[in-house]
Amino acid sequence: MTPTLTPPPEAAAPPAAEERCDRCNAAGKLRIVLAGGGELVFCGHHANKYAPDLLKIAVEVVAAPDFSWRGTELTDNPNLLTS
Ligand SMILES: [Zn+2]
Repeated sequence: MTPTLTPPPEAAAPPAAEERCDRCNAAGKLRIVLAGGGELVFCGHHANKYAPDLLKIAVEVVAAPDFSWRGTELTDNPNLLTS
């Protein structure tokens, strides 16, 4: 039997320049990995708009180096999620 090659969790990379937002087709700024293994890419606008929901469903989040994601702030200040 061939062993299944499972990528390490830290394998996710920031969205490449040619990757586009799943919602509006703008340049992707944030990649999220879902619990089921799927991935979604969002532009800065949608990444911030959906930040609270993305935090709930993502097992991993990788932002582009030039993008400061609102979800990072929410993670550091969970109280913001309830407001
Ligand atoms: Zn978008």
